[in-house]
Amino acid sequence: MSYYKKLSFTQKILTAMLFGALFGIILNNIGIYNSSINQYLSNGVFEVIGKLFVNSLKMLVVPLVFCSITVGITSLGNLSLMGRIGLKAIILYLLTTAFAISLALICAIIINPGQGFEIDNAVQFSAKEAPSLSSVLISIVPSNPILAMAEGEMLQIILFAIILGIAITITGKNAESFKKGITSLNEIMMSMVQIIMKFAPLGVFCLIAKTFASQGIDMIIPLASYFFTVSIVLLLHVLLTYSAFLKFIGNVSPILFLKKMRTAVVFAFSTASSNATIPVTLNTVEKRLGVDKSVASFTVPLGATINMDGTAIMQGVATVFIASVYMVDLTIGDYLTVILTATLASIGTAGVPGVGLIMLTMVLTQVGLPVEGVALIIGIDRLLDMMRTAVNITGDSMVSLITSKSEKSFNKSIFEDPKAGL
Ligand code: ASP
Repeated sequence: MSYYKKLSFTQKILTAMLFGALFGIILNNIGIYNSSINQYLSNGVFEVIGKLFVNSLKMLVVPLVFCSITVGITSLGNLSLMGRIGLKAIILYLLTTAFAISLALICAIIINPGQGFEIDNAVQFSAKEAPSLSSVLISIVPSNPILAMAEGEMLQIILFAIILGIAITITGKNAESFKKGITSLNEIMMSMVQIIMKFAPLGVFCLIAKTFASQGIDMIIPLASYFFTVSIVLLLHVLLTYSAFLKFIGNVSPILFLKKMRTAVVFAFSTASSNATIPVTLNTVEKRLGVDKSVASFTVPLGATINMDGTAIMQGVATVFIASVYMVDLTIGDYLTVILTATLASIGTAGVPGVGLIMLTMVLTQVGLPVEGVALIIGIDRLLDMMRTAVNITGDSMVSLITSKSEKSFNKSIFEDPKAGL
């Protein structure tokens, strides 16, 4: 116990993840002989504690995003600056997603993960309807901001907060007291994040143990080549694309960046939700990476909502996999459609578990593939969801850093200090 107390926060989180995975795998194997122990722990204790933890993170998301974007915009104090930062971030988000999906298509075509796959391995799947592109666009403007907050509609909340921030700036002196109030509320929310973080190791342990106890790694076997293709592309995207951006545009060490991202990555991995991870990502980007608050408070929630590189990678590999299993030949035009649709779909993909798979149906429909194909991969999607969410938030943080750097508001000494933010 005293040994545990000496560990740093990141080490505690990593230990919790490792033990959670080991415990879950053991439990899953015990479950084969005695399912009641597995049921009791994974569907009882772990489920309850894990859900409590995720709920407490989610509890902070709406007020935190609302306050941090409003404060971020007002602290810029200059509307054209805000437009420039927003535009840079959005272009980088779309660009990295397009890279991600192109890399996924190239690797999937080379590896051909669908080869030799038995179609009987499929389970039943009833396709939930993915929203159309036009409805995604229309729904960006909330008709009722309070309802948007109650329902956690992130794009709508972001838009409302942006307009509010602009309005506060335009109002000037008369809005000063409101500005002070919301700035202080923002700080209070960050203190709440610190409180909840105290329970993080326990929460992470339970979430990971539950997933491994109920999933079992043997499910991967029939889909091993699909699983490994997605995993390899996720890794390549981080190691090639992100590292290149960081090294050549950001002029910072990609290794140090990844080291500093560890805690946020574990959170994304255990919750499989970019949204629920926003409080941790924000904290990491500001306090560990040295991104200026006014940039981070805007780019991080925006990224968690519209930037899904990991999800796009899964969608690219899945499309090639499903086409190969159903013996459909995709043309160059189809591949371009996949790149375009998956990049746009990433804007409409909510940062919560499993939505990437629903949006995949939209990509499949665009190129005339059967949506039932999703049934082939649904069984192992949870594990992949965890991994792709980790990549999603790493991409958000990378773009945030590059944007801050280009605005000359990036604090390199914080970035280079290994102890910063701990
Ligand atoms: N779980 C992912 C995220 O929150 C979205 C998805 O791919 O399903 O970023």
